[in-house]
Amino acid sequence: MYTITSVLQILSSEHYFLADDSWTISELVYDSRKIRDVKESVFFAIKSSRDGHQFIADAYDKGIRSFVISDIGFSISPYPDANFIWVEDTLKAIQALAAVHRKQFDIPVIGITGSNGKTIVKEWLYQLLTAEYNVYQSPKSYNSQLGVALSVWNLQADHTLAIIEAGISRPGEMEALQQMIDPSIGILTNLGTAHLEGFSSKNDKLIEKWKLFKHATQILFSSNYVPDAKSIRSGFTWGTNESDDFRILNISTDHAGSKITARYQQEEIDFVIPFQDKASVENAITCIIVMIQLGYDFSVIEQRIKGLKPLEMRLQLKKGKNNCSIIDDTYSNDLASLQIALDFLNQQNQHTQKSLILSGFADAKFTTKIMDKLIRLLNNQLLKRVVLIDRSLFGIITAINSEVLCYESTAELIADLPRIDFSNEAILIKGARKFHLEEVSQQLVEKSHDTVMEINLKAIESNLIQYRSLLRKDVKLMAMVKAFSYGSGGFEVANVLQFNKLDYLTVAFVDEGVELRKAGVTLPIMVLSPHEGTFDDMITYQLEPEIYSKRILNAFLQFLADIQFVDYPIHIKLDTGMHRLGFMANEFDDALITLQKSPQIKVVSVFSHLVASGDTTQKEFTAQQIQEFKTLADRLESGLGYPVLKHICNTTGIVNWPDAQLDMVRLGIGLYGIDLSDNGLHLESVSTLKTTISQIKKLNKEETVGYDRKGVLKRDSRIATVKIGYADGYDRRLGNGIGKMMIAGQIVPTIGNVCMDMCMLDITDITAHEGDEVIVFPDLIQTAKDIETIPYELLVGISSRVKRVYFYE
Ligand SMILES: *Cc1c(COP(=O)(O)O)cnc(C)c1O
Repeated sequence: MYTITSVLQILSSEHYFLADDSWTISELVYDSRKIRDVKESVFFAIKSSRDGHQFIADAYDKGIRSFVISDIGFSISPYPDANFIWVEDTLKAIQALAAVHRKQFDIPVIGITGSNGKTIVKEWLYQLLTAEYNVYQSPKSYNSQLGVALSVWNLQADHTLAIIEAGISRPGEMEALQQMIDPSIGILTNLGTAHLEGFSSKNDKLIEKWKLFKHATQILFSSNYVPDAKSIRSGFTWGTNESDDFRILNISTDHAGSKITARYQQEEIDFVIPFQDKASVENAITCIIVMIQLGYDFSVIEQRIKGLKPLEMRLQLKKGKNNCSIIDDTYSNDLASLQIALDFLNQQNQHTQKSLILSGFADAKFTTKIMDKLIRLLNNQLLKRVVLIDRSLFGIITAINSEVLCYESTAELIADLPRIDFSNEAILIKGARKFHLEEVSQQLVEKSHDTVMEINLKAIESNLIQYRSLLRKDVKLMAMVKAFSYGSGGFEVANVLQFNKLDYLTVAFVDEGVELRKAGVTLPIMVLSPHEGTFDDMITYQLEPEIYSKRILNAFLQFLADIQFVDYPIHIKLDTGMHRLGFMANEFDDALITLQKSPQIKVVSVFSHLVASGDTTQKEFTAQQIQEFKTLADRLESGLGYPVLKHICNTTGIVNWPDAQLDMVRLGIGLYGIDLSDNGLHLESVSTLKTTISQIKKLNKEETVGYDRKGVLKRDSRIATVKIGYADGYDRRLGNGIGKMMIAGQIVPTIGNVCMDMCMLDITDITAHEGDEVIVFPDLIQTAKDIETIPYELLVGISSRVKRVYFYE
């Protein structure tokens, strides 16, 4: 057990103030929104895209009384009963604690690094080893400088094996991760393209990743990814070379999966896995050799590998019956992932009422300590109702403040579902895999059709963080959520942005803003194209119009005067070259005079839009736009006599014209994972459009496929019909081989014309089966180029009949 004094010792700081030195610590907190157990927490004021010192007051209000901070000048006088420790660097401090905690454990610790596959290998090893070990695995995506510290800190005394992921994005980052994880078994999954991860060469990247293995007694990797394997790097290798320890002799795939034939110490062995794609085969081989290293018999390995399960999407947000939102997280259950899921439940502002359906935990060791934490965690939420499944949870019933229902089994709950009134609420369904709570979710969710767009809300958050890091100090951030957030969702996306404390949201029309308000979004919202007929709603729902012409200005002023409104927030749009909406320079003086004598309004911001911020051949024009904007904006501000926010940058402007970030920027397409500026940002892709194969046909040479006989077969072929057509937003120009889709990692072209609800693919060269999943846009940017459009059009064109499925992982 740690106390504030032991923390002080570990951090060996000489600058501190201890009001209560008996304060015990089990949780490390860096985000004041994510505090759950104030009694045992210490708050670290970490400086990342935001300065954690700003949130000390909030953390204090919530009850935290121990802080590790770095600002020398920070005044602690408002917090007389709190502990403060000053350190040079708070991130390093949290890492130092994790490293000390790690030293308490003398168990196998598997450290995984590599460009891809880390999470799958981690989760699969968990599936494979959990019968013998009490396995700890780092929560998904907790693999960064801070994430690793938090995951190592979560190691508990009863764990007998740990699997922890290490992710780096630039040189110099691995050393700190090594000190915290200090793996005894090191795994390198693979090595992707160097420039994608901020390294100048593959070798530099390899050298950096290898630092994780400093004290590892076993290092497992593939000779495919490591040049001069063996001669330079020692370890246990797999690959097709004579010298590999685990030598792959053959890999064959059929509809059921893949068979891997390998030689290990004179013995030839076959492993069958239920996957066909190359990445899964590689990840499975990595798991096999880990099991060999841990001393498992081949018969056991074979048996378990055969039963590997694909990773399911976690934390899916789905539309439920009776106007509910269902968060489906039915794959694992432990305190850490429950906390993450409850955070996500809390973000669902579209419902004021929230319920939780909770199964027993995955591992049987449900100690009183865990139970106490669970009770505190649940009582910290404003839950209307808690549904418990499994006797192991019954001990907490009386301690829970909400209404509690309890069942011995999932089947019992399902039988009782019709009697529980779930309506107008957000329901988190959280359970360990063996409880099969997905059956509960199926009952509560509205049925959706086979073509879906999957939206990764966590990726939006991650992209946001990257753009934030590009912003100069104190620059505000406005996110464009117009056109259903570029096709990615309404309140689902807005809730994430609000949780991440954005400054502004922007929609195109009043209706879009009204939808967000009805769903409980409270951030200020600007409306780009207001018109007279919607002023009523504008005011009722507190939306702020872009005022772009004298006509709309006068109309709005008149409207406000009639209802005697003063100081209504508005935004002035200047036209500096787009020639779309906005006051031109020669209309400016006139507009300013009107604004000056109109107490009805208050100008919150003035802005303009860059025409070609991403086009290097138009630099001069862009510079001129920025100059003209600044001049006019300054005149507006001095003419009004009060400060007005100035903004002109869109996504590519933020990157290419950092000097023009001014007071605020307007982030659009970058948030949704599309980087058009070619500057090495590591954006995560947000949306994936998926469909399925309805039928496969064998056809002979010279037969034709589809309307007007456009798809003429040049050879005997196999043709797959998939359930997406131009009515879903799959552009007709993508027919006849222009469009490419992906099936199990393999790219195939369209054939023939795209139909209204379907189209056909030529799958002659690949293995595919009816019912297989198809990724519709494996490369959105390229696809857009192929039909001479831009990714924006493809994204927003995906029809509303394509169901959106949201997940957060
Ligand atoms: C859509 C829009 C943006 C965002 O543009 P991106 O290129 O998607 O970043 C910014 N400002 C205005 C006025 C817009 O209409």
